[in-house]
Amino acid sequence: MSKEITSRSQDYSQWYNDLVIKGGLADYSAVRGCMVIKPYGFALWENMRDVLDKMFKETGHQNAYFPLFVPKSLFEAEEKNAEGFAKECAVVTHYRLKTDPSNKGKLIVDPEAKLEEELIVRPTSEAIIWNTYKDWIQSYRDLPILVNQWANVVRWEMRTRLFLRTAEFLWQEGHTAHATAEEAIVETEKMLDVYATFAEEYMALPVVKGVKTPNERFAGAEDTYCIEALMQDGKALQAGTSHFLGQNFAKAFEVKFLSRENKQEYVWATSWGVSTRLIGALVMAHSDDDGLVLPPKIAPLQVVIVPIYKGAEQKAKIDAKVGEIISQLKAMGISVKYDDNDNTRPGWKFAEYEMKGVPVRIALGARDLENNVAEVARRDTKEKQSLSLDNLAENIQKLLNDIQQNLYQKANTYREEHTTIVDSWEEFEKMLDEKGGFVSAHWDGTPETEDAIKEKTKATIRCIPLNNTHEEGKCILTGKPSKQRVLFARAY
Ligand code: AMP
Repeated sequence: MSKEITSRSQDYSQWYNDLVIKGGLADYSAVRGCMVIKPYGFALWENMRDVLDKMFKETGHQNAYFPLFVPKSLFEAEEKNAEGFAKECAVVTHYRLKTDPSNKGKLIVDPEAKLEEELIVRPTSEAIIWNTYKDWIQSYRDLPILVNQWANVVRWEMRTRLFLRTAEFLWQEGHTAHATAEEAIVETEKMLDVYATFAEEYMALPVVKGVKTPNERFAGAEDTYCIEALMQDGKALQAGTSHFLGQNFAKAFEVKFLSRENKQEYVWATSWGVSTRLIGALVMAHSDDDGLVLPPKIAPLQVVIVPIYKGAEQKAKIDAKVGEIISQLKAMGISVKYDDNDNTRPGWKFAEYEMKGVPVRIALGARDLENNVAEVARRDTKEKQSLSLDNLAENIQKLLNDIQQNLYQKANTYREEHTTIVDSWEEFEKMLDEKGGFVSAHWDGTPETEDAIKEKTKATIRCIPLNNTHEEGKCILTGKPSKQRVLFARAY
């Protein structure tokens, strides 16, 4: 099988698909828009999941699980949410098949097995969860409820991309219930911070924290907060969202509580989610023309050791030394694989691990052993160095930290170089066409202008950054007054 990868400059989109497929992360499936996540890709997801899960628990949340199906009457209850998701819903209408009497061996839907009420395959779980919270909440003593669910959801997307936008995807969705608006807003912002910390510290992905415009808001939310990242082709990607849902779902499902003041009040809500899209973000942010480049903190495998030898005697000596190195690395919590498979040559293995983005490769030959050194190659810069076998594990640990930092710095520099402040329409269009990236510009605050800009340039308002400062200016399109800049970009 050829492992040739299309280069980024040749065709960025094909490069991405090549990396996902040839890097062993995922495959297309028999179902349109749905993918198979392969073991290497799933290991990456598990690492992300483990870190996030720990962060959720440290911030007081517990996991629970709710049904995959939402009865249509519940789904409809919060009108805006229902309307927003209606066009992407998969619907179950029957519960049984039967043999086709006129075509043996084929199955048809049994018309007698029609469900009394249609079931929606969850595109998101607010409806089923708030219908449940109604039974969990009576008084202020029952609040807050801080629950998260790890699940799959289905959104019948028409234009899909591996990981970035699939019809079924894996995610987590937090759903919290609070006694006051203030407390719910604090929660919304706290979880946005959790996402930003995760993206920056673990994925080495710098993100902008911001608020979406009403046009881009989650259906049924009062406010949608987001983290936005920049990919290497200058396009933005929404990497996570945290919603302040107000009392919308509480009102739709009649979820009230008896307050300390002895009054019946509607409960305040938040929801927040990140999905397997994060894997797409990781690939697009750091990888290169030779394959995946993965940040050590979430790489499924951090170090691979390849022996270089002739004959059993040399091999036995190398094996013994490698055994020592492995136990030292493992003692430090570093994941390591010894690839002494003699069906493939070292050069082939090097290319394979480069393709898979393993952060550090150690090659150990008979002569190295005599000189008490190993050849250590880092995936991010491809630099090789000869390191002493004394203190090797400590130095590998330092190197992994260094790679993690370097990936972040590189992505951050790219983002800084691709964030431009623009004050005229000509410049705005030129910047989007020639350079891409985030364009910081004034906007008059109306959805009409936002739509018109999208129509003309395909750029959307990614967010109103949280760290914005008040600045008087004129809208980039209409010239009308504006009080702050917003971030525009073409996006995935
Ligand atoms: P939302 O519920 O729309 O706020 O989305 C929650 C999270 O899921 C966000 O981080 C989105 O980026 C992500 N997401 C939304 N749609 C898809 C999709 N079709 N495939 C993968 N991830 C998605």
